[in-house]
Amino acid sequence: MPYISTRDSRTPPESLAFDEVLLAGLAPDGGLYIPSSWPTLTAADLKALQGKSYAEIAVRVTTPFIDGVIPAAEWERMVTDAYAGFDHPDVAPLHELEPGLFLLELFHGPTLAFKDYALQLVGRLFDHVLAKKRTRVTIVGATSGDTGSAAIAATAGCELVDIFMLYPKGRISEVQRRQMTTVTAANAHAIAVEGTFDDCQDLVKAMFADVPFRQGLNISAVNSINWARIMAQIVYYVVAAVRLGAPDRAVSFAVPTGNFGNVFAAHAARRMGVPIAQLVIGTNRNDILSRFFNDHAMTIGTVEPSLSPSMDIQVSSNFERLYYELKNGDAAGVTAAMTEFRRTGTLPATEAEWREATKLFSAARIDDEATLAEIAAIYRADGTVLDPHSAIAVAAAKLKRHDKTVPMIALATAHPAKFGDAVEKAIGQKPTLPPSLAALMQLPERKPELPHDLGAVQNYIRAHARAHTVGAAL
Ligand SMILES: *Cc1c(COP(=O)(O)O)cnc(C)c1O
Repeated sequence: MPYISTRDSRTPPESLAFDEVLLAGLAPDGGLYIPSSWPTLTAADLKALQGKSYAEIAVRVTTPFIDGVIPAAEWERMVTDAYAGFDHPDVAPLHELEPGLFLLELFHGPTLAFKDYALQLVGRLFDHVLAKKRTRVTIVGATSGDTGSAAIAATAGCELVDIFMLYPKGRISEVQRRQMTTVTAANAHAIAVEGTFDDCQDLVKAMFADVPFRQGLNISAVNSINWARIMAQIVYYVVAAVRLGAPDRAVSFAVPTGNFGNVFAAHAARRMGVPIAQLVIGTNRNDILSRFFNDHAMTIGTVEPSLSPSMDIQVSSNFERLYYELKNGDAAGVTAAMTEFRRTGTLPATEAEWREATKLFSAARIDDEATLAEIAAIYRADGTVLDPHSAIAVAAAKLKRHDKTVPMIALATAHPAKFGDAVEKAIGQKPTLPPSLAALMQLPERKPELPHDLGAVQNYIRAHARAHTVGAAL
């Protein structure tokens, strides 16, 4: 499968292979990589997936995307291995909350949030591709909680990767911090930075902009714009649809959305042929996407803290992948619009583009009060405890569902124990910690702390990364 950048307006655009796209993350022109065409899953293909395991379906769905880069037997082994440690035999089980309304539980991986489903595969992909290229990378990222722990869990012990995750000191939950700081692998570094998440993010951007530093340490990223993460997320949409009767029956999904990566994967599944009726986006008070789909206005506001911090975002980077489709592949138009977005804070969209977008997605804004009310309502109705992100999906699903004969599947993106304080506010008690989290509370932590200072952070990384010891090569 050849990949192209959403901002490459040359004819033909440069085409890259999967391994190049994996390691690059963002395209040098600032665009996002997308497959040059969508592989298809026919009705017969979907039928053949009925009764198959999560890993078997994952191999079938992802193979067209990695074809020619990783030998089939090896890919099968990597995929099987990635999901073998998940704590539920179905990997992504469905639970019926009320007739026709389902929860897709995506918190059965090592850090109990849905990012594990992609990152467990991406960590293995990095090791495989780096070994073939005989090189090392230094992964650098900023985290407000879930990404950092999932990325560290996915790459801890990877021979050819060193990972440095910056988090804002004192501003992430104890569980989230301990998931990073109790990892003992020598290649994993969680660093507390004095400041906010945005300060951490700015430090990371500055490190990427420092070309000698970036090249010297072969700096890379595993953030949600990485194509490989989207690819891995397509899988659970296919799994859920097939379990509820695809191809004979359509389903709908409701997705708690921040960076638009997860819900774009649902869109990709639909493009590939999975019968999906509705895609509902749930946002919190940071509602730029909800304002776009409901009011035709994509205008950046200020980021406000909420009970669902993993969705506290104003610019949804992955939206550019959809925008490229709305513009029928006009890369020059995408580039101009994104430049305008950065300059004015408003993304231009014509009436026709907006109408097309609203045929594909609907969106609802669920504020903190409504989030707590949904957690309480589901707890009373069914005894299920939702985390705030999952509650937003359920609330949005109920608001936007327009055909009761089509099953609606809300994505549960985190285990409630990761957000115990919010849950306690809603139902008067903290969720019980699963054994893996309870054990974390007893383990010693490694907690290096650094000031909000680029030089200090770069010195720390230089001193601990292995990529520079022999240049970038092994
Ligand atoms: C990252 C995250 C989201 C948002 O997903 P996007 O792909 O950024 O839209 C939602 N819920 C939880 C728990 C997350 O960690």
